[in-house]
This record gives sequence, C-alpha cells and structure tokens, in this order.
Amino acid sequence: MINFNIPPFTGKETEYIAKAIRNHKISGDGEFTKLCNSWIMEHTGTAGALLTTSCTHATEMAALLCDIKPGDEVIMPSYTFVSTADAFVLRGATAVFVDIRPDTMNIDETLIEGAITDRTKAIVPVHYAGVSCEMDTIMDIAARYHLKVVEDAAQGVMSYYKGKALGSIGDYGCFSFHETKNYSMGEGGALLIRNPEDIEPAEIIREKGTNRSKFFRGQIDKYTWVEAGSSYLPSDMNAAYLWAQLEKAQEIYDNRMATWNLYYENLLPLQEAGKITLPFIPEECVHNAHMFYVKAKDLKERSALIRFLKENDISSVFHYIPLHGAPAGIKYGRFHGEDVYTTKESERLTRLPLYYGLEPEKTLTVCEKIKEFYR
Ligand SMILES: *Cc1c(COP(=O)(O)O)cnc(C)c1O
Repeated sequence: MINFNIPPFTGKETEYIAKAIRNHKISGDGEFTKLCNSWIMEHTGTAGALLTTSCTHATEMAALLCDIKPGDEVIMPSYTFVSTADAFVLRGATAVFVDIRPDTMNIDETLIEGAITDRTKAIVPVHYAGVSCEMDTIMDIAARYHLKVVEDAAQGVMSYYKGKALGSIGDYGCFSFHETKNYSMGEGGALLIRNPEDIEPAEIIREKGTNRSKFFRGQIDKYTWVEAGSSYLPSDMNAAYLWAQLEKAQEIYDNRMATWNLYYENLLPLQEAGKITLPFIPEECVHNAHMFYVKAKDLKERSALIRFLKENDISSVFHYIPLHGAPAGIKYGRFHGEDVYTTKESERLTRLPLYYGLEPEKTLTVCEKIKEFYR
C-alpha cells in the first residue's frame, strides 16, 4: 500500500517531548514554543510569530485583530479549506467568494476589485499547494481600498513570492502544522504579524485577554484582564515535536522537492500528450513541494483514476468541494461573478502521495500506474 500521507518524523521528537516534560513545562510558551517562534521570525522576516493550536485558530486571531464585525464582508476563494471562511463567519462576516485561476488554483487577482463593496474589510488569499497568489496586485488593491490582508499560508511554510516568505506579506499570515502539512506538531499553527504594533494585541488575544506575556517578560509586575480573548497557545510538548522538524526544515524541504520533481519529470509526457494537466509554478514563485496533483479531463475521468489507483494499492485523494455550494457556504457566503473555473477545475484534481521519506521507487510506481491508466 502506498499511503497518501505519513506524518513527518525526523528522529528527535520523542527526546524533545521528554525534555519538555523534564522542564516541567507542558503548558504553553515554554522553551520549545519560543524556539519555534524565533525560527519562524528568522526564516520569514516577519516582525512577530506566535505558535497557536491550529491554523484555524491563527485565522480566528487574525479576524479578531482585523476587528471583523457582523455585516462585514471578506473576499476569499471558494476553492479552499473550510477554516478560511469559518474564522470570519464566526465573527458575523459574509464570505464573498471569487473565482480562481485555472493555472495555479489560486484566487484570480483580477476579479477581486469588482467584488469590493463599502462593507468589505479584508482579502484572504489562500496560497494553494504552497504556490503564492499574485501578491503585488493584491497588496496594491488592499492599499487603495484600505483593506486588511490575511494570508492563508497553511500550505506555504518555506515558500516565497519575489523573495518574500509567504505569510509575511499581508497584515497577518497563518501557518498550519497539522499532520498533513510539510512540518507538523499533530495539531497546531502559527500567526505571523507584520506590524510590530500588532504584536501586543495578538499576545493578549492568545492569552485569554490578559497581558500575561508582558508579565512573563518582566515588563509589568502583575497581569490582568485587558481585552476579550481566548486560549490559542499550544502545549510545549507539541512544540517540542515541531522543533525536531524545524531543525531539519531544509532536509524535509529537499526530500519533498525531490519527490515533486520526480513526479513532474515522469508525468510530463502525459501532459505533453494532452491527457493530464500538471501543477504550474509562476516565475516569481518558489514553492515548497507541499502537494503534487494531476488534473484529469473531468469528474468522471478523475473518479475512474482514483478508483484505478486504489485497486493498485495507491491512495490518492481529491479536494475541495467548493465552499459556495455547501450548506454553510449558502448560509454565510455569496459568490461574486461567475463560477467559471472553481467547480470545473476542482472536479478534475487528484492529489498524489507525497510525504517526507516517500521512497523514489514508490513515486515511480505511482507514475507507472497513471501511465497505465491512460494507455
Ligand atoms: C490545513 C489547512 C487549514 C487548516 O489548518 P489547521 O491547522 O488544521 O487548522 C486552513 N487552510 C488551508 C488552505 C489548509 O490547507
């Protein structure tokens, strides 16, 4: 059986978790959380980084920091994971979905401006497969209309756009360290904060609305409840698991990239023959090999392909069912303009097995089976 995903494990995880326990620091903001926060700041150039319990929670924090209120509108793609919308509709906002580009599966930046109303508060680009959205255009629109930008960079750790790390470009960036992502802590994420003056409000929201973080740094002599907040800090045991991977971030990156390239080279003839479509990486983007997908002709052909791979002990998966047609999407959102590509392209896409340590022979087997299917 070739699994679709196996959570990353580099070898030091159990040792570090044991150390967190010996440190008597199994709650949040211990040694490993601080190491992870510093790593993120160093590798992305962002002013602030706070480890969170998930990317969903990092996005909720961003929605709070953007002061999203009932009646506000937030522009995002419909082709995304539910969390992108959840974080904002929880605050009473309407999700305004716009169509995607068929080449990268990212939000079509040329359609954003037309979706803006006087209720629009934020734009949420989702960097699908760790390939950046057209951020210069998006940041320019946001500046002209005074909108916040929250990057859903759940899949974008170690990806770049014109030399800038994904998650560090907008006002806020949200990383995921779920077990299906390149770097993992089981369940977890991080909030990246671009403006230094937004760090303290973020710390307060994350610490139940208290200024406890400031207290621990010795900047005040007692802490108190100063704002409405919640609890978004993960256990240091989870951070210890993540630290073992961040220490080997480049090794994980190189290993995944080798698999991605092997898929690309071996499946390119099928694309050239017009049978399938492979991922497209724009020139200004450096991706992180988060995902390898192929696009079949249509839904029927994709279903047959997934079934054929399954019969050959290969696990491949599809996603996402566009949000605008889902029950909650109908209730909390609307689609601006025409759905030209969102549904059509989503129905063509299949994700192939890709994880740290996937053996090249297995990657080649997957390629062989796909070729056999199209023969
Ligand atoms: C994985 C993912 C999320 C959610 O991440 P969690 O850490 O599980 O909350 C959000 N958005 C996108 C695009 C994702 O891929």
